[in-house]
Amino acid sequence: MSHAASHAASPGADHAPPAESREAAIARLRAQVAAASRLLVMEDLLDYSGHVSARVPGMDAYLIQPGVDPRSDVAPERLLIVDFDGHVLEGQPGLRPPVETPIHGEIYRARPDVRSVLHSHMELAIAFTLMEGVSLSLMRARAVRWESGVPIHPDPSHIKLKTQGEALARDLGAHHAALMRAHGLVLVAESTPALLVDAVHFDENARAHMQVLQAGKTAMPLTAAEIEQINKHEMREFHVGKLWAYYVNKGRKAGLVPQDWPTGG
Ligand SMILES: [Zn+2]
Repeated sequence: MSHAASHAASPGADHAPPAESREAAIARLRAQVAAASRLLVMEDLLDYSGHVSARVPGMDAYLIQPGVDPRSDVAPERLLIVDFDGHVLEGQPGLRPPVETPIHGEIYRARPDVRSVLHSHMELAIAFTLMEGVSLSLMRARAVRWESGVPIHPDPSHIKLKTQGEALARDLGAHHAALMRAHGLVLVAESTPALLVDAVHFDENARAHMQVLQAGKTAMPLTAAEIEQINKHEMREFHVGKLWAYYVNKGRKAGLVPQDWPTGG
């Protein structure tokens, strides 16, 4: 067998996928980012500001909505491809990314494992940056996702500069979430569907902790033994698929997610 024939018979994993499948993958990412944005608005986890992004495979770049578009109406075809310095590489003329792009660019630069980022001004997340002597604890079973910790980034201003994005990425470190003092939070995940599911559970967990505080009681967070027990039975991929299907279906029924968007799983 010639070298060429052997090469053709066993393409290596490092070979670029055919143009068509790459296009399909990007179309799916576009649909997922747009759907996740609309669904997070539907669930009151995103409002007039904040954004979802997804890393573009094989590029130092990510998909993100134009800053001016309402989060309730993000459309796949209007998403921009932006490099880690915030420059638009692809997009309709005149459309600009949100001002807080250094959040996304610097996290993707620092965390090769991260494929999707949410920045939101989630009210309950903010509340846990405003209470003296109280730290957000792991209350509900799904909160084991944040077992390694949830740092609080101390800069309360908008993250408009590269240096601010770098500082946020440093504070996030290897964790999956960081609170931003008096401002919001960032969540990071391996996919946009997983990011949406994490946002739902982050809010549920913060609400559970707040309910305990509002009842005037002392919180009883998950113990190390309980966390270990939960992790033994963790089926993240299955769980993400199930909840993504649930929320996409809910969004379709509400008329928020068109039937023909390739939202995948
Ligand atoms: Zn913000």
